[in-house]
Amino acid sequence: MFDQVEISTGLRRITFPMPMSPGHVHGYLLPVDDGFVLVDTGLSLPDLAERWQELLSALDRPIAAIVITHFHPDHVGGSADVAQLTGAPVYQGALDYEQCEKVWGSDAWAPRIADWFHIHGASPEETAALLDAGSVYRPFVRFVHDPQLVREGDDVAGWRVGEFPGHADGHICLSKDGVMIAGDHLLPRITPAVGLYPESRPDPLGDYVASLELVAEQAPRLALPGHGEPIEDPAGRAREIVRHHRDRLEETLAAIGPEPRSGYELSYALFPDDRGPSQRRFAVAETLSHVERLVVDGLAARGGDGGLVTYTQA
Ligand SMILES: [Zn+2]
Repeated sequence: MFDQVEISTGLRRITFPMPMSPGHVHGYLLPVDDGFVLVDTGLSLPDLAERWQELLSALDRPIAAIVITHFHPDHVGGSADVAQLTGAPVYQGALDYEQCEKVWGSDAWAPRIADWFHIHGASPEETAALLDAGSVYRPFVRFVHDPQLVREGDDVAGWRVGEFPGHADGHICLSKDGVMIAGDHLLPRITPAVGLYPESRPDPLGDYVASLELVAEQAPRLALPGHGEPIEDPAGRAREIVRHHRDRLEETLAAIGPEPRSGYELSYALFPDDRGPSQRRFAVAETLSHVERLVVDGLAARGGDGGLVTYTQA
């Protein structure tokens, strides 16, 4: 069985284990007319079916639908297993599903992202290490290939779909009566990673700040995140994360300087602690999202030649 907490009448949080950091991910069971909507599914781990069977027999009503907030492995990974066990349809954001297919649906992504790390300044050895670090998740991702695609304003059993690009380009959240099922758009304590990746939207940090401002404006009374405890002041937390990124943008600008530097090099200025290739992957992507925001703002310039992308202060 999974750990469970009742958040409010009938609305339950289920905690899925994760063998890698941060060690857990939450799914939510939302009570609806004909059962529950499940939001997010954890990784496809070997004991998932057994644990789900225990949970399903303890629930008084069926899982009527499964909603995926975004295609990162800890959220989408177990979706095909849970869909099979419950017979419930899977709902996923249209853009998110497109990216899910691209990243997890074939072997074409590995060379694509290898080229990309390379043009951003990683050596062939460093690129190989970054790729290996990313491939650890692959065995734990089994997603559904023909989900129901949803967009901003759609309704899933009385819950409103909202698009909040940033942590993932196609990230969606569900909202009803002031409660937001936030996925990784809003997290307590840790700031959600915002990275630039190949074939992603061009300015993910700009998207993210706009999505945070939307939360500050909508001011839900409670946000239920994919990791950590419920957020009692979502608008305040959103504003705090906006401030964090404003500070990080200043640090990024200071790191860029007058000499051309690659995203890989800059990532060491901004994330000097090296905890290995899996952290470095995030550091490079996060650095690039900040640098590209500065390019959009006219404060940095992108240049380079011979297949290497570099940045200088504008
Ligand atoms: Zn997550």
